[in-house]
Order: sequence, then structure tokens, then C-alpha cells
Amino acid sequence: MFAGAVVSGRAASAAAGETKTISPMKKKSSVMKLSYLPYELQLRHAFTLATGSRTTTPVMLTRVEYDGISGYGEAAMPPYLGESHDTAAKYLSKVNLSQFRDPFLVEDIVEYLDGIMPGNYAAKASVDIALHDLVGKITGKPWFRLWGLNPAKTPFTSFTIGIDTPEVVKQKVAEAEPYKILKVKLGLGDDREMIETIRTVSDKPICVDVNQGWKDRNYALDMANWLNEQNVIFLEQPMPKTMVDDIAWLNERSPLPVVADEALQTISDLLPMKGVYSAINIKLMKCGGMNAAYKMAQMAGAMGMKVMIGCMTETSCAISAAGQLSPLTHWADLDGNLLISNDVYEGVKIIDGRVTLNDKPGIGISEKVKMFKK
Ligand code: MG
Repeated sequence: MFAGAVVSGRAASAAAGETKTISPMKKKSSVMKLSYLPYELQLRHAFTLATGSRTTTPVMLTRVEYDGISGYGEAAMPPYLGESHDTAAKYLSKVNLSQFRDPFLVEDIVEYLDGIMPGNYAAKASVDIALHDLVGKITGKPWFRLWGLNPAKTPFTSFTIGIDTPEVVKQKVAEAEPYKILKVKLGLGDDREMIETIRTVSDKPICVDVNQGWKDRNYALDMANWLNEQNVIFLEQPMPKTMVDDIAWLNERSPLPVVADEALQTISDLLPMKGVYSAINIKLMKCGGMNAAYKMAQMAGAMGMKVMIGCMTETSCAISAAGQLSPLTHWADLDGNLLISNDVYEGVKIIDGRVTLNDKPGIGISEKVKMFKK
């Protein structure tokens, strides 16, 4: 099962004419070595949105070792993103970190990772996250501290209530008791019924994600006005990302902020969004990792847009990496690790509904299950 792109340092004995014996002492490698391991996440409940339903998510777990220290990363690959165990393995097999003698050259390494192949953002994120974890561990500091962010400014996270029968929806709302904000997927036809069902049992603020499900801008505006009266916070990707003019029309009139999700991949998509959306949903798996996500959050702020930090169904590894950025954001949707039953890491927690950072170095995780054998 284990697949690894193992890159070792050039042995000194390779030099011409040498006959030295290598010391039997265990030697730390000062060359970065990448390993990766495919894994399948099991979802607690089938995950349903406007584009389909599923019960598992493939992920690729990664590790970058350097000087006896291990940094961990992850690629979470829901099928609609177009990445898989195969594509990630193909990408990762091309990554050669041994050319970088210094893991602190994060900008150079990320630029190299991006240039290996187009696309493959989740696979790129898996190396970017492991690199950040490694660098943080070398310094002994978590990334929110290296970025100068205030851990008291983390947002509340929303908790997703999947589309279901009214009885099951009410039960799921009851199970979401610890969370201060609910998230609801609309766009499957029973939009008002879903909200009305929740409102019979809870008055918590709701985030609405339509996943491009509405095709008519007048319907979208009617819904935006109605949802605004239902204590809804924002409207995420209400219409297909290709309907740019209609979304701009809606954004101008909507009392709720219109958030870009599917329309936004990485930093190069951001500038044209001014005036079309009023907020963006950043996900590490879409943009290629922590380096790009941090830059996007800063750039969106400079453009006067609000920022949400989101996730896929993923382990506490990628969630904790995203959590490091969360003090920079207005809203968080970091419940992906809570939706799976076989997490292998422990990290950033949700306490009283809020993203709660810890002082562990790097991305703030520890291994719950040891996945990488030596
Ligand atoms: Mg979304």
C-alpha cells in the first residue's frame, strides 16, 4: 500500500577514489524526503449536495522529513475536483525536494511545486502543508504565531446540516447543539422547506450554500430577500460560476453577501471578482496550500472583500492547517474532520463553536494513528 518518492542525499562515498567506511552511527538526513500514502475517509453520514451524494472521500497523506523532523500534509480529493489517488501519486512522484537544501525557502519551493504540472491543487497543497508543518516544527512555533495572528480572533465555525427528510433534519440540528452557526446546502428544490424546518427547532444564524444550484437571477434575488429575513448570514455560490453578469447583478441587489466558492480556485482568479462577489471562500485544496491561502486572504482584504475559510471532508491535518489562517477570516467552515469516522490526526479543536488553536508547532497536530511506518 505504501508508495513513496524517497529521495536520499548523495552519499559522500560516491566521490571518486574514496574507500572510507560509513560510520554505523545513525545519521539524520539533511535532505528533504517526501513520502505519501493513499487513504480513504469514511463519512459519518452520506454527503449530499446539488451535484450528487457519496459516503467516502479519497485522501493522500504526505510527510516531508528533514534532519530527523517530520512535517505532515494531506490532499483531500472529493470527486468533483477531478483529482484522485492516481493523479496525486503521479504528481507526487515528480516532486524532487532534494534540490532544496533549506526548507525555509518556502517561496521558492512553492513556486517549484506549482510549476511541475498545471492543476493538481490538492496534491500541491499536500506538499505545501507538510512543508509548513516541517518549518514550524523546526522553529518550534505554530504558523499562526509565525504569521503574527491573534489566536483570540478565530471565528466560530459553521456545522453543515445535510439535505434530508424534515424529521432527520430536526435530529441533525439537535446533534449540532455545540455549534453556534449552521450551514445548509440549498439548490435541490425544497429551499424554503429546508430553512422552515430548521426554524421550527432553532434560531441560530444559518449560512446558505447553493453550490451553483440556481439558474434564474430573479429567483435568486427573491430567495436572498427571503433568507435575509430568516437570520441567514450569507449566500454562497448561488448560481453557476459561468453566469458572471447575473451574479454581479444579484450581488449588487442582494441584502446578503454573495460568496464565491466554485468560481474561485487560486490567487489568479481573485482580481476579476471585484464587483461580482463580496466575499470569497478559500480552501487549501483549491488554491494549493497555506502559502497561497494566506496571500489570497490578504489580497481579498485589500480589495474590500470578506473572507471565509472552508474545507473538504478531510482529516484534522488539513483542517488544522486551515485553522492557522482562521484569525484572518470573518467566517469559518472547518467541520470536515467532524464529518468523518476514521481521522488519523488530532489538532485544532472546535470549543464552544469556535476554532480553537493550540500551541503545538507547525500546523498544530499530533498523530492519533501512526500511518507512516519508518
Ligand atoms: Mg461551497
